[in-house]
Amino acid sequence: MGLGSVVARASAISAGTGAAVGAGVVAAGLSPIWACLLVVAAVLVVGLVAYRVEGRRVQTLVRFLASQADRSELLRRLPPLGSDEVGQAARGVNAILKATTDASVDAIDSSLELQAKQEEFELAGALAAKTTELEHRLDERALLFELLREATEKSGMDEVLPSVAARLSVALRLREVAILVRDPNDHFVIRVARGFDDPDSLVGRFIEKGEGISGEVTRASEPFIVRDVAREPSYLAFWGHAERTGSFAAVPIRQGGVNLGILALTRPEADPLSEVEVRFLSAVATTLALAIHHASLVDELRKLSNHDELTGLANRRLLGARLDREIARARRYSTDLAVLTLDIDHFKQLNDRFGHPVGDAVLRDVAEVLTAGVRAVDTVARVGGEEFVVLLPRTNGDAAARVADKLRSRIAAHDVAELEGKSRVTISLGVTVLDDAEGAAALLSRADQALYEAKNTGRDRVVLRFSRPAA
Ligand code: GH3
Ligand code: MG
Ligand code: MG
Repeated sequence: MGLGSVVARASAISAGTGAAVGAGVVAAGLSPIWACLLVVAAVLVVGLVAYRVEGRRVQTLVRFLASQADRSELLRRLPPLGSDEVGQAARGVNAILKATTDASVDAIDSSLELQAKQEEFELAGALAAKTTELEHRLDERALLFELLREATEKSGMDEVLPSVAARLSVALRLREVAILVRDPNDHFVIRVARGFDDPDSLVGRFIEKGEGISGEVTRASEPFIVRDVAREPSYLAFWGHAERTGSFAAVPIRQGGVNLGILALTRPEADPLSEVEVRFLSAVATTLALAIHHASLVDELRKLSNHDELTGLANRRLLGARLDREIARARRYSTDLAVLTLDIDHFKQLNDRFGHPVGDAVLRDVAEVLTAGVRAVDTVARVGGEEFVVLLPRTNGDAAARVADKLRSRIAAHDVAELEGKSRVTISLGVTVLDDAEGAAALLSRADQALYEAKNTGRDRVVLRFSRPAA
């Protein structure tokens, strides 16, 4: 409603009032001039009052609408503004506001419901994640228990470690894994390797002092983790045998503050090691320490019955077992197996000249030089008074003859302290390789024939003999 209509309504009210006042004045008998003045005054007063009352209601309505346009206050309502058009407009506005408020309440209710549903959904997700995590933790506990059982059930290191590596590799989704064990020379030697192209070629290798990451871990008490080996220049990738991607961990295996070994492992790029897993690896390493300790005690006990007391080398019994095992392996993987038999030259004279104890010292020194001259996977056995046999797996005749000659020259160059420079020690060696269908006895016998030939042709030499002439 505009100002014009307000004025028009005020004028109509004033006109009505003027007519009524005029009639009253005439009835009261006042003079016409006074009567006229009184009528005009009444009309003006009533018009003014009517104009102000009408204007305030319209103003209230307009201000209310303007303030709603400015900031919606859906709960505010207009006061009753009468029953005419202004009042109707005000009621209309209030009705719209109520409808809007109701719609908002519905919207809030739906949004609260949605939020509750979402929270429920998130809780269900979190619960599923927790359940999975719990399952993982239980699997890990089970693995630790299995490792411990393995350690006590199986006997020596050679049985325990491959089995432990196999379990770890499956349970921890490892790509490559190696277990290194400290030997009496303080070398950390790879005793078992899995996941590499040629794991056997890694067995027996040891890390030099400070070499690569594992070289650091030989003295560390904490694991060394590399999240992305591609960015770590000190990562040696197992001398190039492992892939240069993914994550790597070298975990010290410690017992009583002493590093007994290292658990070295890798995981593929798409499945990196997590914080929790790294912590779990330390628990695995502690269990491994127990396993290694236990296995080495078992080995120690076995050694007493399988090893020669004077030199600590394998005795004839152990040689027999190793020879059977290596023959089976060579057949299964179609690899070579070489055998050396060797005998100290004129040992009797040495004994006679210097005495038995000096002879014993010579035997111990020869054993040491032989062991140091071959790989950890090779077997050196003392099979008689001054007779030895060396098994060289995955070695052909020519390579074996080179090894034999290296051993020969090292013994010849070696000074036995007890001989005080008065005499030298030499050995003669026979070399041969496993033929297709023969057994241990035939193999050893041919090696002996070669040795016999070496003795007969002057001693301090190597004779290589094949079962048949090379094609
Ligand atoms: P050849 O060059 O032909 O082999 O001559 P050899 O004198 O070395 O061979 P022979 O078999 O005649 O002598 C072996 C000697 O080794 C005889 C034995 O007294 C000695 N012997 C065997 N066992 C031991 C041992 O445990 N300690 C010591 N000191 N001597 C031993
Ligand atoms: Mg002899
Ligand atoms: Mg001899």
